[in-house]
Amino acid sequence: MPELPEVETLCRQLNGILPGQEIRNVQVVDARLGLLAGLDGHRIIGVTRRGKGLCVKLENGPTVLLHLRMTGRLLWQKGASPLPSHTRLIISFAAGKLLLIDPRRFATVRLGSDPVLSVPLANPLEGLPARRLREIAAERRLPVKSFLMDQRFIAGIGNIYACEILHGAKIDPGRPAGSLTIAEWRRVERAAAAVLPRAVACRGTTVSDWRDLFGASGTNQEHLEVYAREGEVCRRCGGRIERRVMGGRGTWSCPSCQK
Ligand SMILES: [Zn+2]
Repeated sequence: MPELPEVETLCRQLNGILPGQEIRNVQVVDARLGLLAGLDGHRIIGVTRRGKGLCVKLENGPTVLLHLRMTGRLLWQKGASPLPSHTRLIISFAAGKLLLIDPRRFATVRLGSDPVLSVPLANPLEGLPARRLREIAAERRLPVKSFLMDQRFIAGIGNIYACEILHGAKIDPGRPAGSLTIAEWRRVERAAAAVLPRAVACRGTTVSDWRDLFGASGTNQEHLEVYAREGEVCRRCGGRIERRVMGGRGTWSCPSCQK
């Protein structure tokens, strides 16, 4: 599933193309997406990210709210190339086409006004202040990894980056969120400030199907310390990386240096 760095990558790439362009035509290929009427002729103002979602603002029109969910991706296509399989939506401009491709069909597109995220930490790219993390996590018994991934508290972090941030912070993912000290939350703050911007600079992590707007893989998989590295050696301490299931999700950590 695309997480904050992947969606931020799309957001930045879309902003390099779309502002000022006028929508010529919208073709809904998959009826499950619903009707997207009244978009033709509107000019794009810009694109912003809300957590793992994208908001495309139109001049004198609604905002298009897009969520990629499990397997959704966006592709910018120029010229008359054949449509990739699983194309669900085609938005045409003079300069090219924006395609929504989604094999599992969980992605959603709806029209609305620009939403305000009512989440305590709405944009982890602007930082995850340790004091705020401690306040929100106080008394909570859920594992700190599940806490970092809980979109009610923090917007945009998913499985890959929760594992990587906790390795960076030397915290065991299974620790109850409320048990971390302020010093430990500061380590989480510092780790997030290193992990997330680097992943954005790398245009995301391609371990399976992630591709950016132009169909290219990201490169952050070269920087993964624990995610999907079960049985491999921890580059920090030489310990063995282990996998367990937490909240239904594969969770990787180094028991030797994450306490
Ligand atoms: Zn280690």
